[in-house]
Amino acid sequence: MTNKKRIAVTISMTELFRLFPDEDTCYGWLERVRWNGRPVCPHCGGAENQGPAPSKTHPYWHRDCRKHFAVTTKTAGTRPSARSETGYTPSTLL
Ligand SMILES: [Zn+2]
Repeated sequence: MTNKKRIAVTISMTELFRLFPDEDTCYGWLERVRWNGRPVCPHCGGAENQGPAPSKTHPYWHRDCRKHFAVTTKTAGTRPSARSETGYTPSTLL
């Protein structure tokens, strides 16, 4: 076991918007952090037999359990209030 400590970093909203200029950047970052680049179905935990789904909100389809999902499925980001009705903000996705 390593003895590394996690260090929290505080950034401004300006810096947050610079790092995450759009939704696609946010989703890409979340997918790398949550799945390490390989989608895992949040409904059943399966990592095989997945394909793209024609939906921006649920871009993945798991053939085994026959459900759509996204990186935010079963996270706080799935709450309807997490998506701003007035426009994109990275803090709602992160
Ligand atoms: Zn599944």
